[in-house]
Amino acid sequence: MKKQINICNHKYKVLHINFEGLSENFGSTLSTTTTISIDSSITKSKQEVTLAHEILHVLLEESGARELVNENEELLVMIMENTFYDFLKQNTNFYD
Ligand SMILES: [Zn+2]
Repeated sequence: MKKQINICNHKYKVLHINFEGLSENFGSTLSTTTTISIDSSITKSKQEVTLAHEILHVLLEESGARELVNENEELLVMIMENTFYDFLKQNTNFYD
């Protein structure tokens, strides 16, 4: 998994940290420091889906759509995470 990804002209660091059960979430995003943290104690496939989940949060924020979805953001991201992950896995270079 990449340690840095570019999202909407921002370089996001991707950190793999053992959350040690301190959070019920598997990932978190801090847009002020452009950092995505992923729980390293979960399986690789769950880490990958979690990264897709966090990317969706960033896209909602950077696009301004976060204002549109408000309290439904987490639900929307959860609904889309597996389809988005599947898309990312199957179309790595579709603009080439
Ligand atoms: Zn979330």
